[in-house]
Amino acid sequence: MEENFSQALLAWYRQNARQLPWREFHSPYTTWISEIMLQQTRVETVIPYYLRWLNQFPDVAALAASDEQTVLNAWEGLGYYSRARSILKTARLLHEQYHDQLPADRQELEKLPGLGRYTAAAIASIAFGLDEVVLDGNVKRVLSRVWNLDIAVDTPAGEKLLWQKAEELLPHGEAGDYNQAVMDLGATLCTPRSPNCLLCPVQQICEARRLGLQAERPVMSEKKAIPHIQVVAAVLHRGDQVLIQRRPSQGLLGGLWEFPGGKIEAGETPPQALQREIREELELEIEVGEMLGTYHHAYTHFKVTLQAFHAEILSGQAQAHAASEIAWAKIDHLTDYPMGKIDRMISKDISLKN
Ligand code: SF4
Repeated sequence: MEENFSQALLAWYRQNARQLPWREFHSPYTTWISEIMLQQTRVETVIPYYLRWLNQFPDVAALAASDEQTVLNAWEGLGYYSRARSILKTARLLHEQYHDQLPADRQELEKLPGLGRYTAAAIASIAFGLDEVVLDGNVKRVLSRVWNLDIAVDTPAGEKLLWQKAEELLPHGEAGDYNQAVMDLGATLCTPRSPNCLLCPVQQICEARRLGLQAERPVMSEKKAIPHIQVVAAVLHRGDQVLIQRRPSQGLLGGLWEFPGGKIEAGETPPQALQREIREELELEIEVGEMLGTYHHAYTHFKVTLQAFHAEILSGQAQAHAASEIAWAKIDHLTDYPMGKIDRMISKDISLKN
């Protein structure tokens, strides 16, 4: 059954592989960039970013010579910004220690910033033809359906079993195509909802299909409720400029620019929270004015609702306590500063109403 599965999948892939820009021409560099961009991100979203990226940073040397702000600007909108910072760190490391080349070895690749086992195995197999197997959400779904696994795939025991299964299935000498074939099957036919079993190349051996259990596989452990955070932000004006601050380079949205503010504490109104946050973060006393808007965004582990207010400084000189840098940015130059989703929405609203 294992051999049938791998061979059926390879034959299907050779006829039906998706036409993707990183497959038309590929090098270790392009495979690396595309694999990092594709983490947690849909193919259709990645394509325009990938094409622009290769124009702007055609190789490791060009990327290594860039600064963080330029790289974050190119990444803006793709989310999970630690990926962009790790790419830059890795490019500099490759430039200094590896003659601008990625190492052709999965374990060496895993030592580079931002490369976990999955990405290292994808690069090793696709770019270097090495016998390394990948396991991501798509692969887990396909394997747990074909073998009708009733173990939760997001637990250590489930992961261990799936790695073993994935390794058993790997056709030696064909790992690059095989890995891409399983990913394509999971992305196009064996989708989370309503898998298209009638067109599936492994329908004859799929146990979940035979038993009608496709919707029950993969089994996932129970998810905790996602917290919902209420925050406020200030748009502080000075003539045609507004005050923005740069987040420390580590952590969520690290290195990106934002409008100052923070969480609303219990018992506070939004304007009270904003006055307190601005005092703590910038040592400024402010008067809170009209509301600019309310913005919502879902991150992986929490949701945010943010209320933004126009505000005027009453006293004080802005000090960067919570940020690595502060700047008075001209409203029509705000696009020069890389920002996360919500802050970019705020900056667009300010520009529209200016
Ligand atoms: S037969 Fe259906 S459930 Fe089974 S692998 Fe194919 S698409 Fe997925």
